[in-house]
Amino acid sequence: MAAMTSTADTSGTSDAPRPLLNRRLAEFGTTIFAEMSALALRTGAINLGQGFPDRDGPDEVREAAVRALRDGRGNQYPPGPGVPELRQAVTAHQQRRYGLPYDPDTEVLVTAGATEAIAASLLALVEPGDEVIALEPYYDSYAACIAMAGGRRVPVTLRPRDGAYHLDLDELRDAVTPRTRLILLNTPHNPTGTVLTREELAAIAALAVERDLLVVTDEVYEHLVYDGEHIPLASFPGMRERTVTISSAGKTFSFTGWKVGWITASAALVAAVRSAKQYLTYVSAGPFQYAVAEALALPDTYFDGLRAELTAKRDLLGTGLAEAGFDVYRPSGTYFVTTDIRPLGAPEGGDGFAFCRALPERCGVVAIPNAVFYDDRAAGAPFVRFAFCKRTEVLQDAVDRLKVLQKGGSA
Ligand code: PMP
Ligand code: GLN
Repeated sequence: MAAMTSTADTSGTSDAPRPLLNRRLAEFGTTIFAEMSALALRTGAINLGQGFPDRDGPDEVREAAVRALRDGRGNQYPPGPGVPELRQAVTAHQQRRYGLPYDPDTEVLVTAGATEAIAASLLALVEPGDEVIALEPYYDSYAACIAMAGGRRVPVTLRPRDGAYHLDLDELRDAVTPRTRLILLNTPHNPTGTVLTREELAAIAALAVERDLLVVTDEVYEHLVYDGEHIPLASFPGMRERTVTISSAGKTFSFTGWKVGWITASAALVAAVRSAKQYLTYVSAGPFQYAVAEALALPDTYFDGLRAELTAKRDLLGTGLAEAGFDVYRPSGTYFVTTDIRPLGAPEGGDGFAFCRALPERCGVVAIPNAVFYDDRAAGAPFVRFAFCKRTEVLQDAVDRLKVLQKGGSA
């Protein structure tokens, strides 16, 4: 029964049984988020690993979903591109916030979270052997989806300097080759919290136009910006026709379990991505789509309030981590803060994996080792990410617990 075994021989030349997982995915095991959330559950530690809020979003948005369910809206397959109400709400949002006009009928596609939008975009736009440039550290599904599409990922590394992470535009330019198909961008950036500036985005846009590249830009944290502003890449000259913009209700409305995402792009790009998407899920989350349509029309005070609340939480956790002895890279956006554990010294030194695995025992907190977001794991080894999308009292408790590290001890 060779087909039922899973011995890890990938050469295909020996007599060893063929592995069950295909070779494109062989390097991807269980995602770090599942591993670390399971660790939190097992140990009862405070979970600052996987990024999800510990309080649901606005009551009126939840009630909108209940209403849709009760009224029988979306309980059967919604239309492939998404329900018209949500497509219109997405285009109204892009127009109102960014002055970007899109046609709700041809230039929007609703997906099962940003995760499916990423997968469908890459599966649609990448040929086997194409190079895909991704900012490193990269969100883990990027690497897996590039691999599923048969592409070759080319990381361009954001590097820490003066207390924050920065993109080296020369490095990005040098990474482009005749085989480059697209740049997979992410701003605000998970896990570093970097928000690309107008100048950086303008340079990326100019490069994409000059080298005739597509750009898939993951902007799920568009509303979680604390310093500077979020500027969609699609708003730069020459970009509208070559950019797939991805967003999602999970972060903006604190309903990560609903998995409602979307893309906005030219009709030709939407048609291409839809071709892949229709064979992944076809459609999803019918009633939630109606609720998210209502959420996108919330007044600016909602978005301002969310930002103010998370700014305070960023500062609370960032200050606490610094006091505990971490080097802290101040995030301008997202709900993550990246730290360097090396100043803490023993016992783990600069090994973020060992540090995160031991942290629940040492002080009852769970975090994510950034090494998993790097091709060059050694380069990411000393960095550890903490999420601050938790209630203030939970963050305060975590900060108090983390203080034991300061003394090099354990609770
Ligand atoms: N992109 C980034 C950068 C993320 O951090 C996440 C995690 N939520 C996603 C995409 C996935 O979003 P969704 O939950 O909407 O699939
Ligand atoms: N995006 C979330 C994070 O970075 C988690 C998403 C997931 O669990 N895949 O923590």
